[in-house]
Order: sequence, then structure tokens, then C-alpha cells
Amino acid sequence: MDALCPVCREKELVIIELGVGDHEVVLVSCAACGSRWWRRDGFETQVAEVVELAMTTARSGGRRKSGRPTKTAS
Ligand SMILES: [Zn+2]
Repeated sequence: MDALCPVCREKELVIIELGVGDHEVVLVSCAACGSRWWRRDGFETQVAEVVELAMTTARSGGRRKSGRPTKTAS
């Protein structure tokens, strides 16, 4: 992912991947200025949407086992 901080244009971003149901939710954090934003399935999203998605997934009992390997953030 070639992302750029929209605030300070820093390229070194801290990326935290979270799987929410079938969706790939990513928290991107800028180490330089502290800005944070979210992406869902590759698109920018709001934290409220992420929370709603997580709640919807929890409610529908979407705790399916997926073969997706757990990535270790370095
Ligand atoms: Zn920044």
C-alpha cells in the first residue's frame, strides 16, 4: 500500500491490520505527526463505521474460522 500522510506527507506509516468479519480493516497511524485514519477494504473510512461493522459482525455471530494467517506487525 503506498499511502501518504494527508497531514504531513510522511511516508513511514504504522499500519495495523484488523480483520472484522470478512472485511479487512486497517488502522493507519503516522509516526511523524500522530494522525490516524482508517481504511476498510482499501477505502478510507470513519472510525464510527468500523465500530458499527464490528458490532454488526459480533451480533450476527460471525466468528467463522478463516484460513487467513495472522500477520505479525513489526
Ligand atoms: Zn503525518
